[in-house]
Amino acid sequence: MKLDVMAFGAHPDDCELSMGGTLLVLKNLSYRVGVCDLSSGELGTYGSGSERKKELERASEILSLDVRLTLDFVDGNVRNTDENRKKVIQVIRKYRPTIVFSFVDDTRHPDHLNVGKLVKECSFLAGLKKLNSDFLPHRPAAFFRFPELIPWEKPDFVVDISDVWDKKLAVLRSFESQFTIGHEETEPPQTFLKSKEFWELIEAKARLAGSMIGVRYGEPFYSDRPLRILDPVAISSKEFI
Ligand SMILES: [Zn+2]
Repeated sequence: MKLDVMAFGAHPDDCELSMGGTLLVLKNLSYRVGVCDLSSGELGTYGSGSERKKELERASEILSLDVRLTLDFVDGNVRNTDENRKKVIQVIRKYRPTIVFSFVDDTRHPDHLNVGKLVKECSFLAGLKKLNSDFLPHRPAAFFRFPELIPWEKPDFVVDISDVWDKKLAVLRSFESQFTIGHEETEPPQTFLKSKEFWELIEAKARLAGSMIGVRYGEPFYSDRPLRILDPVAISSKEFI
C-alpha cells in the first residue's frame, strides 16, 4: 500500500501526543496515513505488554490509520546504527509515503532525539538507487518535524486541529495505562504523565499553537526546507489577530 503520510515515533503514543490532531485532519481529507513506532515502549513505568498493545489498537482505530507498525528497536536505546537504518529504510520503501514526520533534533529524551535524526537520514537514503533492499528506492517529497512537547522555537507552520480536538483527547485517553489519573495510590510512583498538570499542558500547547494562526487549537511543525506554496491566498483564509 502506498501511503500519503507516515509519522515515526520512538514509543507508542509519541505521534498521537505530538500530531494526533493532524493525523485526524489528514484522514478527514481522505489521505492514506500510517504511524510507525520504533519500539514497543517496554521501559514505560505503567502497563503490561498486552495492555499496551490493546491501547495501541484502540488509538489506531479511532485515528482510522491505514497502517500501524511497531518495530523491534530497544526502548531507551534507540540508536542510529546500520542495522536500524536498514529497518527504517525498508519501511519507507515499502509504504512510499509522500511526506514523513518525526521529532525535532533538539529533544530531552535521547530516543526522541535519535529517532528524529535516524528517520531524516533514512528518508534520504531510501531514495538511493544503488542501496539494495527488498523494495524499490523511494524518497519522500518532504520531511517535517514535530516538537517533543512545547514548541520552543517559532514553528514553520501550524495545522488547525480545532475541529478534531475532542477526538484527539479520545485518542490520548486510549492510552489508559500511561495517562489516566486514578490508580496512583495502588501504582506508585506517580508520574507527570498521569497528573492533571500534564493534561493542562497538552491543552496549553494546542492553544498556544492555535493562537499563532488565529484558531482555537493547533499543532506546530518545522520544515528544514522552504515549503512550496501553489496558492498563497488559499493558505491565508484566516485573518491574523
Ligand atoms: Zn516517547
